Amino acid sequence: MNELLKKDLNELDLILNQVKAEGLEFLTGINNRPTSISNQEIAYQHLEEQGTGAIHALAEFKSRFDQIIVASTGPRYWGFVTGGSTPAAIVGDWLATVYDQNTQTIKGQGDISAIIELETVRLLLQLLGLPDDAYLGGFVTGATMSNFTCLAVARQWLGKQNGYDIAKEGISGKLKVLSATPHSSSVKSLALLGFGSQNLIKVKVMPGNREAMDLQDLEKQILELNGAPFILISSGGTVNTVDFDDFEGILKLKEKYNFWWHMDAAFGAFAACAPAYSHLLKGWEQADSITIDCHKWLNVPYENAFFLVKKEHRLLQMESFQNSNAPYLGDPLENFNYLNFLPENSRRLKALPAWFSLKAYGTKGYQDIVEGCIARAMELAAFIEKSDVFELLAPVRLNTVCFTLKEEEQVFEFLSALNAKGIVFMTPTVYRGKQAVRAAFVNWRTTENDVLMAIDSMEQTLREF
Ligand SMILES: *Cc1c(COP(=O)(O)O)cnc(C)c1O
Repeated sequence: MNELLKKDLNELDLILNQVKAEGLEFLTGINNRPTSISNQEIAYQHLEEQGTGAIHALAEFKSRFDQIIVASTGPRYWGFVTGGSTPAAIVGDWLATVYDQNTQTIKGQGDISAIIELETVRLLLQLLGLPDDAYLGGFVTGATMSNFTCLAVARQWLGKQNGYDIAKEGISGKLKVLSATPHSSSVKSLALLGFGSQNLIKVKVMPGNREAMDLQDLEKQILELNGAPFILISSGGTVNTVDFDDFEGILKLKEKYNFWWHMDAAFGAFAACAPAYSHLLKGWEQADSITIDCHKWLNVPYENAFFLVKKEHRLLQMESFQNSNAPYLGDPLENFNYLNFLPENSRRLKALPAWFSLKAYGTKGYQDIVEGCIARAMELAAFIEKSDVFELLAPVRLNTVCFTLKEEEQVFEFLSALNAKGIVFMTPTVYRGKQAVRAAFVNWRTTENDVLMAIDSMEQTLREF
């Protein structure tokens, strides 16, 4: 054995204690760590022939890179849709690394950690009030890959409706995909899957200040397809204003027309945890496939998301992801192996952070996280609405606040100045043609005081502007 590896093996206790100390220092100091950095100059180094061992590598890492690690897992990082990590999720994530399983199967003699993954999916379905047994779910790296996975099965379905096997024969002929406000990652998935992103047929949004799909326009577009089957990508929470498509209305159309109903509920799915908001998802348990992120509102570390595909589509799913050309025999769920049901073959035990966090905090814990985030969004929105300088661009429907300056053309400059202060972080967007800012509340740590600190920093930024 290499000398340095031997030494590290003997010093595991010391090494892991050092990592614990580092983790503790970081997590307890998170409130004071800046949410952005200004000095980004890091000189790249070469790979040495002689290594230094884990303790020295950690010390070197800290001295060189600590300064560029921002508090994105802290309470005032409201950019994109950034979750945090609950303590139990960190336990699961660390242990997933320690156990280092390659999660694929639920039967056999080797690694059968897929059992844990399937149990975690069941726990999530229970958390979200979805039927336990209707979906086959699995973990992927993020909602992008979840959209990709769901749309790959949808594509296979669509091919079959047109009489061919796309997984084997490729895309022959034009396939129809419709959506109103798809997340960019769905459009990216369409590009990866060979649909061609520009072939997406845009459905109008509802009148008024809405991002949800106009179902009258949808039906009109469906009629123009002359009975051709298609895929519908619906939104369970758009990113700018968290608008939800009318799922019950979509269900009615599903009785009349032949389409695959995909739903991107990356973070909106967690509305199910808050009784006052769960109605937004009414009817979603009928979707053919659903995308849900865990590294957002479930508050587990990156990279973590899952997909749900109705079990009745399991053959299509297996045709899409089958890892060999061997003819398959019997029901694919009988001899279940994840490598035939999702894009990756080898994978870590991705379910473990979610398993730990769900066990540790239960439905009440997640109800509190979700309701807390919604309350914080309302608090920020109340400030914006009262202000003479800011303008709220859409009502707060769930957990994001979309706003601009009354002098809209200055808003991005304001945002850079605000972000540079490092107290709070938000991201730029364009909403209905206006330059705007989004603040998304997805972190279990965020308190009323954090909103006040952010408001303070916003006001100070204005004064210096
Ligand atoms: C974040 C998000 C995605 C993409 O998710 P990643 O985890 O970044 O891959 C897709 N859809 C929606 C609605 C999202 O909010």
